[in-house]
Amino acid sequence: DTTRLSVGLGARSYDIVIGAGLIAEAGARIAALRPGARVGIVSDANVAERHLAAVEESLKAAGLVPATVIIQPGEKSKNFATFEEVVDALIAARIERRDLVLALGGGVVGDLAGFAAAALRRGVDFVQLPTSLLAQVDSSVGGKTGINSRHGKNLVGAFHQPILVLADADALNTLPLREFRAGYAEVAKYGLIDNAPFFAWLERKWQEVFAGGPARTEAIATSCASKAAVVARDEFETGDRALLNLGHTFGHALEAGAGFSQRLLHGEAVAVGMAQAFRFSAEQGLCTAEDARRVEAHLHAVGLPTRIRNIPGELPDTDGLMNLIAQDKKVSRGALTFILVRGIGQAFIAGDVDPQAIRRFLEAER
Ligand code: NAD
Ligand code: ZN
Repeated sequence: DTTRLSVGLGARSYDIVIGAGLIAEAGARIAALRPGARVGIVSDANVAERHLAAVEESLKAAGLVPATVIIQPGEKSKNFATFEEVVDALIAARIERRDLVLALGGGVVGDLAGFAAAALRRGVDFVQLPTSLLAQVDSSVGGKTGINSRHGKNLVGAFHQPILVLADADALNTLPLREFRAGYAEVAKYGLIDNAPFFAWLERKWQEVFAGGPARTEAIATSCASKAAVVARDEFETGDRALLNLGHTFGHALEAGAGFSQRLLHGEAVAVGMAQAFRFSAEQGLCTAEDARRVEAHLHAVGLPTRIRNIPGELPDTDGLMNLIAQDKKVSRGALTFILVRGIGQAFIAGDVDPQAIRRFLEAER
């Protein structure tokens, strides 16, 4: 059960291949694009321990020449020092313009390795082999790469599209359940944005998605297709790519409030944020209370948080959260831009949300 999608960006279109057991085919698929290339693999220690040997073997069997850089797992590695280490290691491995960088890992590895590929010799091609659910359905598709600055997340980076994305659904078998769930929040997001039948399918099939097999591959493929379609319409995020931020304005404030720590993973924050976007929309009379209830019930069923009170530990008070929302990049001239909903599968960009209405809503939610 392998699905192939194409991300159409004019002359620069590329394939996303989704299926079980793709790591074994990685070498052949990459060699078809760049025969004999040297491949600078960037991975983190968790992923390397479980999957690196199989990837290296597959590359060598196809006549490619792998060289590997391993970083420490975690968001902290998206920094300038690690970026320098990775770029230096790729240069030392003699990765040149006609060679490749291969990102083998979650979103951290993908963002860092993609940015290294964008900067190395003013740009070498790269391939994404995402190993977390979040990376498979979100970060590996779309070409945003980068690292964090002391001033905030993802402030330094480049748009650099991969030449190929290989999403091996079996690679997720070693992913911790909590990380899988967090990535699942982004899967559900695609249904909530503009695909109500997909959301209804997830309500029926989520256990199969978690268990693996064809339903998992299908969920990843549907998610990638949604993201690829948005990216093809709006590569540089000037317009409706913003719909992908459903749940992210509330979510980012909560993540920041929890100090971007293991207390609250990104996808968990997004789950709370999406439930809030639905409850707020229902309160404003934009969508039905029944839709808001369905969203909350589904996220809760898979084990995701849906309320601020589900988040362990202290969080800023309502004014503190409002400040964090105001700092978010989606604020323009006093009014707040939020992704709101007219129902499941009917998200829209609301450019004129009254901050006082948000404040009252958040206060009532505590
Ligand atoms: P991550 O890369 O830190 O991976 C999560 C954890 O799972 C890590 O500990 C990692 O080592 C481990 N892991 C990954 N795959 C594994 C596997 N198969 N088996 C065992 N362990 C595995 O985090 P993430 O959630 O994948 O990605 C988050 C990052 O993605 C953030 O930095 C975020 O900014 C970025 N992101 C980027 C985009 C984009 O468009 N570029 C979009 C969304 C998120
Ligand atoms: Zn997200």
